[in-house]
Amino acid sequence: MAATVIDGRAIAEQVRGDVARDVADWVAQGNDPPGLATVLVGDDPASAVYVGGKQKATHEVGMEGFDHRLPADTAQEEVEALLQELNADLRVSGILLQLPTPAHIDGGGLTWLIDPAKDVDGLTPVSAGLLAKGRPGLRPCTPAGVIELLDRHDVALEGAEAVVVGRSDLVGKPLAQLLLARNATVTVCHSRTRDLPDVCRRADVLVAAVGRPRMVQGDWVKDGAVVIDVGINRTDDGLVGDVDFDAAAEHASLITPVPRGVGPMTIAMLLRNTLEAARAQAATPA
Ligand code: NAP
Repeated sequence: MAATVIDGRAIAEQVRGDVARDVADWVAQGNDPPGLATVLVGDDPASAVYVGGKQKATHEVGMEGFDHRLPADTAQEEVEALLQELNADLRVSGILLQLPTPAHIDGGGLTWLIDPAKDVDGLTPVSAGLLAKGRPGLRPCTPAGVIELLDRHDVALEGAEAVVVGRSDLVGKPLAQLLLARNATVTVCHSRTRDLPDVCRRADVLVAAVGRPRMVQGDWVKDGAVVIDVGINRTDDGLVGDVDFDAAAEHASLITPVPRGVGPMTIAMLLRNTLEAARAQAATPA
């Protein structure tokens, strides 16, 4: 195998260590610890594990956690009321509504109620607009984590051909904008893209965020390319990404594995966002 494997878990631990130190300094300066509120509606086991991981990580870096779990039959209005309460709560620096919500609740719509100053998931229209305009703001965690991995490996983005496969609001679109902001030449692909393998072969930086196990083949990867696999697919073989790792690693210079690649970065960036939100709120009190 030619490629160097990016150790997302180790980099995420470094980011979390940095955040923990910054939180300790922040509190030592006389500030309240930043607070992260998570809201989980229903009993989806995967979501419960994600929320549990976020809360545990929050405590580990010295922040306060507010773990709200509501039964699956909670009315939309009750979730709205809780989000408004959290918006007004000065102890809460960041709010995360865990998606997906049960079918009778419009989770995407509820996200819009979160105060943009507390939008640590970076998913409100205000955060999306600030990103699109290239203005400072809270960025979605997984795309921000991808950029952090690239930066920690000194990947030159300026002028590079970046191809992002996937155009979701959660990953593909914001990542394309972050890469554009770093002066990469960005192509965004999706399910109607013609000649996808050919487009991928152009990439100096190839990102797969699709949700299809091992879709990206080895011969889609240009020699020397950097390959970032955002996909998390549960298969009979266990957890696999959107990239055929072994085949792609024959061509790539740098590649993320699944698991232990992009995945651990998401919580790390959520913690960083929560600290950033607390600082910004202290600088411009409501
Ligand atoms: P999503 O909302 O389902 O979006 C998937 C995207 O892939 C869509 O834009 C879709 O195109 C495109 N696509 C589907 N089939 C395709 C094909 N055959 N060829 C080209 N493009 C195709 O998924 P997502 O939320 O972005 O998540 C993507 C993957 O990342 C999933 O595996 C998810 O589990 C994982 N993920 C990981 C993390 C993490 O922390 N590591 C965080 C979030 C997501 P259309 O728009 O045309 O339908």
